[in-house]
Amino acid sequence: MKIHEYQAKEILRKFKVAVPNGKVAFTPEEAVDIAQNYLGGNLWVVKAQIHAGGRGKGGGVKVAKSLDEVRSLSNEILGMNLITHQTGPEGKIVKRLLIEQGVNIEREFYVGITLDRAISKNVIMVSTEGGVEIEKVAAESPEKIIKETIEPDLGLQQFQARNLAYALGLNGLQHKNAVKFLLGLYEVYIASDCSLAEINPLVLTKEGDVIALDAKMNFDDNALYRHPDIADYRDLNEEDPLEIEASKYSLNYIKLDGNVGCMVNGAGLAMATMDIIKLAGGEPANFLDVGGGANKITVANGFKIILSDPNVKAILINIFGGIVRCDRVAQGVIDATKEINVTIPIVVRLEGTNAEEAGVLLSESGLNFEVASTLKDAAEKVTAILKN
Ligand code: ADP
Ligand code: MG
Repeated sequence: MKIHEYQAKEILRKFKVAVPNGKVAFTPEEAVDIAQNYLGGNLWVVKAQIHAGGRGKGGGVKVAKSLDEVRSLSNEILGMNLITHQTGPEGKIVKRLLIEQGVNIEREFYVGITLDRAISKNVIMVSTEGGVEIEKVAAESPEKIIKETIEPDLGLQQFQARNLAYALGLNGLQHKNAVKFLLGLYEVYIASDCSLAEINPLVLTKEGDVIALDAKMNFDDNALYRHPDIADYRDLNEEDPLEIEASKYSLNYIKLDGNVGCMVNGAGLAMATMDIIKLAGGEPANFLDVGGGANKITVANGFKIILSDPNVKAILINIFGGIVRCDRVAQGVIDATKEINVTIPIVVRLEGTNAEEAGVLLSESGLNFEVASTLKDAAEKVTAILKN
């Protein structure tokens, strides 16, 4: 799960990790009230809150030098369609703002903690090339990213944090502040079951403080039950509507860019199905695992979700009947096809328990199913249909 910058900063604040003072606003009036009465001072930053980075470049982060400017910038940014390299060309409508105190930036750094799956350990990375796209730094000058591997049973060690702070070119009090920041960030990462904690930029202020100017945190969905307060941060506005719909029915659905809708039981079989569609020259429109206990209702719900994607031009149903009986799935497919009046071609491959009965049901249904015998056959049939 992803959260907004202002929410990540609320978490960091709880753990006493340095962040600028600020608050979320939903209207320009709230924004002005926060700047005037909560923050005070005479320099503020108005920041669009969407689940994507690159907001500054896209015009979603602006400095205000007066309360009038806070109002006009808030007016401008709220409701805008913010397009960044992470939103894709369709952009994202801004519905919330973070109104934050302006910080006097001396230098901008990068720090990120994430799991390195290849070594099964968390790594912490810093770079002096903060503020910009870190992906570019990684690609063009990887030597500018300094890493420490964290031993799970030891945690981030003092000496490692000190190494990283020296790598940022910090000394004296600044170095001490940076070490405190890094150790604090790691504590948050572990305590909150994060999969990513990324601060870009981490800044050294003119006053010598080391503070998070931006904050991105992702969480392990499987651990969210341990953090009801974090789960409450979920903003459905930022998620794919089809994926939200699917999660209501406990369907595992991920939208993709192709045109072959896939309905499969079991994650492994679903991935194999996508692979073989690609091998046959097609492009899957989604990953959908209807689960081991697929029944008529799950099949109907899966159908509705697949069909809500306008790119879908054909459907491949691939079910292995183990616990679930193929004839029941076939009946579900037939009922759902009639009920929601599916007009695009459907290729069905059912194998396993009661597969023969299922075949009879499908061919006697009077509906236009292509029945495939093997997975390869199914993938070839569906791509052939789309080519014609
Ligand atoms: P994004 O990464 O989405 O572009 P950031 O939060 O990193 O958004 O902000 C972009 C840039 O705006 C930062 O690199 C920093 O230079 C400036 N900025 C952000 N917040 C503040 C702040 N509170 N005070 C001063 N400058 C800021
Ligand atoms: Mg940033």
